[in-house]
This record gives sequence, C-alpha cells and structure tokens, in this order.
Amino acid sequence: MTTRMSLCVLGSGSTGNCSVLVAESPGGGRTITLIDLGLSPRETARRLHRVGLRIDDVSSALITHFDGDHFYRGWAGAGRKLGLTLRFHRHHRPFAHRAGATVVRCECFHTAFDLCEGVRVRPVHFAHDEHGTVGYRFDSHAGSIGYATDLGAVPRDFFEHFTGLDLLAIESNYCPVMQRESDRPIFLKRRIMGGSGHLSNEQSFEAVQRIAAASRLQAVCVLHLSQECNDPKKIEAMYEAQPQLRERLVISTHDRPTPWMRLKPTAAQRPDRCLFTNAAAEG
Ligand SMILES: [Zn+2]
Repeated sequence: MTTRMSLCVLGSGSTGNCSVLVAESPGGGRTITLIDLGLSPRETARRLHRVGLRIDDVSSALITHFDGDHFYRGWAGAGRKLGLTLRFHRHHRPFAHRAGATVVRCECFHTAFDLCEGVRVRPVHFAHDEHGTVGYRFDSHAGSIGYATDLGAVPRDFFEHFTGLDLLAIESNYCPVMQRESDRPIFLKRRIMGGSGHLSNEQSFEAVQRIAAASRLQAVCVLHLSQECNDPKKIEAMYEAQPQLRERLVISTHDRPTPWMRLKPTAAQRPDRCLFTNAAAEG
C-alpha cells in the first residue's frame, strides 16, 4: 500500500516562497504540509483555496531558511493560532528565534524523519549566505520528490541526495546576461552570483540534466525566478535542447499557483506519463 504525494508551488520568487505538499495515505488520511511560509497568511489561505485546500487543514510547515522571502514574520502569530508545527534544521534555531517563529510549536531536525505514515523526509544542508539553507527529499513507495532552493552553488554531494527522483523542484534564479546588465548595485550582483546566493538558469539546467539521467522524472519545476533578471522564455528556450525535459517543465511564478504535480503509484512503471492537472479552480 502506498502513500501518494502531490506538490503545488503556491508562489515563488523574491517576493515570497511557499509550496504545498499533500500526502494521501491508503486509508484516506491526508497530511498537508507547506514548504516555506514566505507569503502572508492571508495570501497563503487565498492560494490554498484556489487549489482546493483549506489553511485550517495544514498541519505543519518545513522551512528551508529564515530569510524574509521564506518566512513572513506575520506567520509567528498566525501559525500559533492555527496550531501549526514548524519544522526546521537545528542550526537555524537562532534565526527562527530572531524571526519570531519560536512562538509557534517548533520541532528541530538534523537527520531524516517521518513526515507522516509512508513519507520519509531527508534534509540536505546547502550553503546560502552565511547561514545555509535546507533542501528536502521526500520518499514514499509511490515515488520521490526533491526540493532545492537558494542553493548558491551546486554542492559536490548534491547528486548523492538528489538521484532516483520522480519530481524535482529546483531554483533557476537568473540569466547571467540580464544580471550583469541590470542596474543592481555591484555588491548585490556579487552576492547573488558569488556561490552563496542563487543558481543561474545554466547552473540549474546542468543540475537538472544530471539528475534526470539518474531518475525517472515526471516533472521538473523551476523555482525562485528573478522578476528583474530572468525571463521564462529564456528557460523554455534552454530546455528545447532536451525535449524529454521540456515537456515536463513547469515554471513557477511569484503571483499564482502552478498546476498540481501528482505522483501516481503507477509512476515507476509508467515513466513517460505526465501527470499534471490544473491547480486553479478559478482564474
Ligand atoms: Zn529566497
């Protein structure tokens, strides 16, 4: 018996990051988990409603790191009221405290843990600014999902953790030409491009291709596109070189949810089936 997993990115970009993972057990139970809380509680509720979920049904949130675009401060009070459990890496406790997050029920991890019956979560620590960020790998009998954002650079051991995936969500933050030509201050460009900020489209695509070669990817979802220094058309053009990946590509945006990306229990046997469904119940 397998637990099914589905992922929808509610919004992603420097104005706020939040995704929702739904795990459905064979007995009919459902565990709804948010990954990052970078949108306001009200906006999160609105987007959850758009994809057919209620904020009251969310049981926990996994935080990649506590930058403002991944943890909106208003969640401290709202999370407490909703009875959420915040889960984050134990190295991030001081930053959680500084962001006011520790008024919510918190559980720190540093190794793998069970999200619910049938879903194991493996956290992976990445360099990002001075505090690092955490990527997640979700494994169930129905398949595996990798989620990695704000990587800065692709660490050497990345491919040990992110292999044999069915679904990959990974940042593709900027086009280097647009970044260089932008009016941004030089220190910001250096921070972003210097190995502890974000991945460029090229770095991201290279990682995706390596992961795809050792996986059975049904979907690749790109995250955290810069509004100023990226263009979805550039990403699409890049993926044209790999038609198998191009047809599985989902580009997240800052302002609306992606379609649902659902892993079906049959996925391992039928790798060429693409399983997207429309997320938005309304326009
Ligand atoms: Zn970010």
